Amino acid sequence: MTGKVFLVGAGPGDPGLLTIKGKRAIENADVLVYDYLAAEPIVALAPPDCERIYVGKKARAHTLEQEEINTLLVRLARAGKNVVRLKGGDPFVFGRGGEEAQELRAAGIAFEIVPGVTSGIAAPAYAGIPVTHRDHNTAVTFVTGHEDIQKQLSTLDWSKLAAPNHTLVLYMAMGNLASITSELVRNGLAASTPIAIVREGTKPAQQTLVATLETIVAELERTPIAPPAIAIIGEVVRLRDELRWFDRLPLFGKRVLVTRMASGSLEFAARLWEAGAEPILAPLIRIIPPEDTREITRAVENANTYQWIVFSSRNGVDAFWGELQARGRDTRALGATKIAAIGPKTAETLAEHGIVPDFIPTRYVGESVGEGLLARTEPNDRILLFRAQEARDALPAMLREGGRNVEIVAAYRAVQNNVADLAERVANSDVLTFTSAGIVRSFVAQLEDAVRAAHGKIIACIGPITAEAAKAAGLEASIVAQDFTTEGLARALIAAPILR
Ligand code: SAH
Repeated sequence: MTGKVFLVGAGPGDPGLLTIKGKRAIENADVLVYDYLAAEPIVALAPPDCERIYVGKKARAHTLEQEEINTLLVRLARAGKNVVRLKGGDPFVFGRGGEEAQELRAAGIAFEIVPGVTSGIAAPAYAGIPVTHRDHNTAVTFVTGHEDIQKQLSTLDWSKLAAPNHTLVLYMAMGNLASITSELVRNGLAASTPIAIVREGTKPAQQTLVATLETIVAELERTPIAPPAIAIIGEVVRLRDELRWFDRLPLFGKRVLVTRMASGSLEFAARLWEAGAEPILAPLIRIIPPEDTREITRAVENANTYQWIVFSSRNGVDAFWGELQARGRDTRALGATKIAAIGPKTAETLAEHGIVPDFIPTRYVGESVGEGLLARTEPNDRILLFRAQEARDALPAMLREGGRNVEIVAAYRAVQNNVADLAERVANSDVLTFTSAGIVRSFVAQLEDAVRAAHGKIIACIGPITAEAAKAAGLEASIVAQDFTTEGLARALIAAPILR
């Protein structure tokens, strides 16, 4: 059967601006065809076995001509694939989506269009410029300012565009700004009309320059702004003074290296985006099964014989219920056994299995768990610690000292995950975040000279134990979270004076 092609608008850059329908299409794709405007977190939504085909225009990389892209889409769909063609902004706004859809129609291939948030509205919005406002304009026009000035621009009626009470939004206009502004003034628009240039709109690298039609060219000589950028012309530009918000966010423009394992970093990364920062993903560990899985089997079989089971992370919870499921059993296998979760995320994962933990410590370190468990148990009680193979020994030692009968099961292993371009990602970061001692070790192991690579960067750790491990590796943390969760780490970054 022939597949279907979804032309999906990826939005202007902030991955949070992808539509829910677009997200669903990507999650169901067999093949993702994308270019460089697509943000990494959006591409990451594709399932692991989805084929990713890059057709962007980045220097050095091989790129495809439009015709080749059209042929590719047709070929993939004919091979029965569900294809998502991801396009920057909105596919039908200066995005050649119309041409691609025509090509598909001609080839008899089914398609759907998933509109996206176009940069001509979103970039001004993130710069604090509404494209319409009742006090200023009753119309807005989207214009291409493409290089081909003789052909394209001559078809534009400048006398109509040069209207007061009218906002102009120009795409691809940077190359022709001088002629565009002089045409507008020649046709009667006041030379004092404000113009804003917004580059990398909605992204942490967003730059905004405000001038007038008369001064913009000289201003750009002083402060060059490279494309891609949107130009907004009209009185609404003045509202930026009052309405700017994005470039005032606490972490605006900061590039933050996120080293957690890939699956655990999505929420943290989204939180960083929302604070104006750009997360740079470098998952330095990954989770694999322990060397010996028989212990897991035994522990799960005997689950209802313990007084307490302690889960130290969501990985442990996943391993436990994975085993239960494999044995055709469910949460009832736990009987009356009490459950402790070491932190709120672990508790959340337990809740997915219908478990409300009997104990969650207020501080998420082994010692606090130990105190809490000692207070809730009797000597000789059987306590199962279901945790990482390489976990610290503080907790079991404490419980054993109190006469408890402790059993430890290695539920999973966190091992080094190699990140091919780690050095480059580190160099591009302002802040390095570490959420476990194991991640610090992986960082040091993968860089030739970790101390030098981290020189001049701000180091942020999830808690004192991770900070200690960093210090031992010669990396001094200047930010340490107060409560030892990624949410706590995000809050610590936002509050840090050093990042202002
Ligand atoms: N279909 C896209 C536009 C593609 S044309 C959309 O709907 O947004 C490419 C032009 O879009 C660039 O030259 C630039 O003018 C604009 N553009 C795209 N992303 C942008 C961004 N994040 N910030 C500013 N301008 C952007």
